[in-house]
Amino acid sequence: MTNIDPNLRRLVIIDVDGLRRDVFRAALEAGHLPNVERIVGGREGRAACRVDALSTAPSITFTAQASIFTGQHPGQHGIAGNESFDRLGRISSGRPRHFGFDVGYTLAVDDAVRVFSDGLASQLLSSETPTLYEIVSANGMTSAVAYNMYARGADAWLPPDIIEIARFTKGPGRLGLEAGQYDGRMLDCLIAHLDTGTRPDVLTAYFMGLDHHSHVNGPASQPAYLRDVIDPQLGRLLDALEARGMLAGALFVLVSDHGQIEVAPDDRHSIRLGFPFDRELGHLFAALGLDVHDVPGEDPACDAVMGLNGGLAHVYLQHRAARWADPPRYAEDVLPAAEAFRQMNEGGKYEESLQGSLDLILIRDAEREGWQAEYRAYLGDGRTQPLGDYLTAHPELDYADPVNRIRLAASALTGDLILVANGREGFYFGGPTTGVHGGLLLAESEAVLTFARPSGSPDQIARLREMVAGVVSDRCASEGDRQPSVADMVPAALALLELSE
Ligand SMILES: [Zn+2]
Repeated sequence: MTNIDPNLRRLVIIDVDGLRRDVFRAALEAGHLPNVERIVGGREGRAACRVDALSTAPSITFTAQASIFTGQHPGQHGIAGNESFDRLGRISSGRPRHFGFDVGYTLAVDDAVRVFSDGLASQLLSSETPTLYEIVSANGMTSAVAYNMYARGADAWLPPDIIEIARFTKGPGRLGLEAGQYDGRMLDCLIAHLDTGTRPDVLTAYFMGLDHHSHVNGPASQPAYLRDVIDPQLGRLLDALEARGMLAGALFVLVSDHGQIEVAPDDRHSIRLGFPFDRELGHLFAALGLDVHDVPGEDPACDAVMGLNGGLAHVYLQHRAARWADPPRYAEDVLPAAEAFRQMNEGGKYEESLQGSLDLILIRDAEREGWQAEYRAYLGDGRTQPLGDYLTAHPELDYADPVNRIRLAASALTGDLILVANGREGFYFGGPTTGVHGGLLLAESEAVLTFARPSGSPDQIARLREMVAGVVSDRCASEGDRQPSVADMVPAALALLELSE
C-alpha cells in the first residue's frame, strides 16, 4: 500500500456526544464554526472526508461509544445499552448483574460513579475486542483520553472527578455545573496533561456537555451550544496543539455517537418501571406473575429485568425452571411476555396510559437458536414475521438501517424481547426529558463521522477520501450490505495511519 504521507503519525479524535449530523453540517455551511473550519478546510470541507455513519442499536452513549473506540458492533463488544443485564455474570464471578451506567436512567447510582472511578464500562467491554488504544499501543504508539468512559490500553486516562460528575448530572443550579463549564474542564484537563511535556500519538477529547444540554433543553438547542461552546473550545485545543508543534501532520476525526429527537417531558410519554411511584410497566409484570427488578440496588434474584435505553428497551426473562445463564423457554417464558406487551400496546391492558406507546415488539428464540438468534417482529397470538418483511409493510416507521443494526446488536447481553418506543409520537423509556435517543429513527441515529487532514495537500486529501471510502464500503459489503456505522471509525483511521489491527 502506498503511504499517503510518511509524516501522518498523530490522530486527534474530537468526540461530541449527541451531536446531530444535520445540525453539524448546517452550522458548518452557515459559517458558524470557524474553528471546525480550521480542521476540515473551510465550510466546503476541502481537507475532509465525511461519512454518513449511523449509530448502533440502541442509539445510546455507552453502546455507541464502545463501537466508536473498538470498531466493533455491539454483538461483539457486549455493551448492549446504558442499562443492560449480564445474565451470565461475565465480570461478576458468574452472578447475574444489572448495569446502569448513566445516572439519567440508572437504578443504581453507584455504577455511574464506578464508570469513572474504576473503569466499570471498560471492564464489561469484551476482552476479545481490543480498543483503539490497545491496537495503537501494539504498534508502538502512545495515547491519552480525556473524560471518555472507555480508555482500556491508553497510556493516560484523564477521567472527570466524581464530584464533577455528580454536580454535572444533577444539572444546572446552585450546586450544579453547567454543561459548558464541564466541557471547559475537560479541555483544561487535557491541556494540563500536554503541559507535562507528553506528546501522545493518539488524543481523544470527549465533549459530553452538548448531549446533556440537549436532553434538558431539546435538540433545537444544539446549534447554539455547538457554536457558542464547542467551537470556541476547539479553538483552544487547536491553539494548544499548534503551540506544541503537534498540529502539523495530524489526522483529525470528528465523531458523534448518536443524535436526538424532541419528545414531551411528561409522565404520559415517559415509560417507566415505576419505582417508587407510578407502577406503569410494573402492572404488566405483576399480572404475569413475574418479579421484575425494579428497586434500586435490588439483588437480581428475580424473574424479569429491563434495560431502559431511551427509544429501545431490553426485556430479559428467566427460564423459570432453571437459571439466568440458561436461555429462557420460547413458549413458556418469552411468548407470554410478548403477548402481554402487545395487549398493553394495542388495547391498553395492564396500563391504559401506555396504549400506543410502542412501535415494535421484537422477539428471539434463544432456546433453539442461541443468543445471536434473529429478532423477529411479534404480531400477536404467537405469530412472528421477519423484521425486514414487517418493515416493508410498514413504511411509516422509516427507520435507519434497522434490520442490520438489530442483527449486529444481538448477544447474550441483549433482551429476550426488544421493545421499540413510538418515538414519532414522543414516547420513550426512562424518566421525563425533552431530548431523547436510543431508537432507530433518523434524527437519533445519524451521527457525525468526518476525517480531516488540516495541513494536507490536494493529492493527500484525494488519497484520504479514496482510502476511507474504500475501507468503509468494503466493510459494509462484507457485513450484509449494511450502511456505514460509527464502528467504521477505527478501521478507517488505522488504514490511514497504516497500522495493523
Ligand atoms: Zn451519547
